[in-house]
Amino acid sequence: MSELSGLQIFKYLPAAKKQDHTNCKECGCPTCMAFALKLSKHQVKIDNCCYAPDELKNIYIQSSKVPQKTVEINGIKIGGENVLYRHEKTFNNPCPIAVSIDVAKNNWEKKLERIKNFEIKCVNEIFKVDLIILKNSKQQDIDFSCITFEKLKSLPIKIINDNDFKSTSQELITIRKKAVLDKDESCSEPVCVWFEHNENLNDLCSRAAYYICKYANMIVFEDFDESLFTSLIMLRQNIYTDPQKPLQVEPNIYEFNNPDENSLIFMTTNFALTFFAVANELESLPVPSYLIVTPSDGMSVLTAWSAEKFTAKKAAKMIKKYDFANKMKNRKIIIPGLLAHMKDELQEEIKDFEIIVGTVNAFEIEDFVKTKLKAFTR
Ligand code: SF4
Repeated sequence: MSELSGLQIFKYLPAAKKQDHTNCKECGCPTCMAFALKLSKHQVKIDNCCYAPDELKNIYIQSSKVPQKTVEINGIKIGGENVLYRHEKTFNNPCPIAVSIDVAKNNWEKKLERIKNFEIKCVNEIFKVDLIILKNSKQQDIDFSCITFEKLKSLPIKIINDNDFKSTSQELITIRKKAVLDKDESCSEPVCVWFEHNENLNDLCSRAAYYICKYANMIVFEDFDESLFTSLIMLRQNIYTDPQKPLQVEPNIYEFNNPDENSLIFMTTNFALTFFAVANELESLPVPSYLIVTPSDGMSVLTAWSAEKFTAKKAAKMIKKYDFANKMKNRKIIIPGLLAHMKDELQEEIKDFEIIVGTVNAFEIEDFVKTKLKAFTR
C-alpha cells in the first residue's frame, strides 16, 4: 500500500461524513481537511483527532511503514526507495555503481589506480566510481572510497548474482513490488546486483541499464571500463532526477575564458538548460565574459519573469552582492532578448550599468558579439 494522500485521509474524517465534531478544531487544525493534509505529510499525529475511526488508524499505520531500509556505506546512501515509478513522487538515492577488486590477483594496484583516476564532469558535477569493494583484503579499508567484501556482506543488503537476465530482473521487480505495495518487511533490504567477470561490454551495459531502471539499489562490476561507467552514470542521472524539481544551477557569477574588468557581462536565470545553452556559447566565444545567473527557482527566462522570479530588484541584488560595480570597468550588461520589455525597469534598478538587450536564442550570441562587440566595448 502506498502512502495515503490528504484526500484519501479526509474521506474518513467527520467533515467528509457530515458527522458531529466536523471542523471542531480539537486536533489543533482549523478544519478536518487541514488535519488530513498535515497527517499525509506526517506533520501531526493521528491520535490528535479523537474522532478518527479505527479503520483509518489501521490503514494509516500500514501505509506509513517504510518500504525499504536505507543503508549507508562511507556516506553513500543505498535504498530508501518508496515508490515503483519516479513520477509518483521521486526516487531518493541514486544507485551506486561500484567495482570489486580482488587483491589476491596480479596488478590489482594498477586497476585500483585506474578506477581512482576515472572521473567525468556533467552538469557542473564531477562523478567518480562510487565505491570500491576489496576481495581477499586483510586490510580493513584502504581509504574512504573502499570497503571490504566481508563488510559489504555483513550489511543488511541483499546481493543477487546476475547469472541470468530473466531471473535477476524478475527478482528485482518482485522484491520492489512486495516492499512498496505490500510493505513486506522480508523484502525491505536494498538490493545489490553483482556482475561477475564478463568481457561482453554490450551485454554488461544493457543488463545494468535495465537493472538501474528496475530496481537495483546498487550495482557491482568485477570489470572496470570507462565507457561502461560513463554510460551508466549518465543514465542514472536521468533516472534519479526529481521530476518535481526543475533542474537548476547555483545562482552565481560564472567566468568564461579568464575574464577581467573589461570583459563582456551577460545575465540569465538559473534554469539549468538555459544556463548550459548560454554557457556553451560563452565558452566558445573568442573573447572572455561573465555570466550573472540570478536566482529564479530554476525557471526559464520568460516563465521566471511571469512568475515574478526574475525581477529587476533581484538582478540588482546579485550585482550588489558580488560588488560588480566596483570590480568592472565595462559598464554594459547584456540581458536575454526575451526580456527586452524589462529593459527600462532593469535600467531603473541597475544604475551603474547600461542595459543592452541581447539575443532571443543562445546560438545567436556569437553573431551578436561579432557584429556588436566593438560598440559594446568602446
Ligand atoms: Fe476534524 Fe478531528 Fe480535527 Fe475535529 S479533531 S477538526 S474532527 S480532524
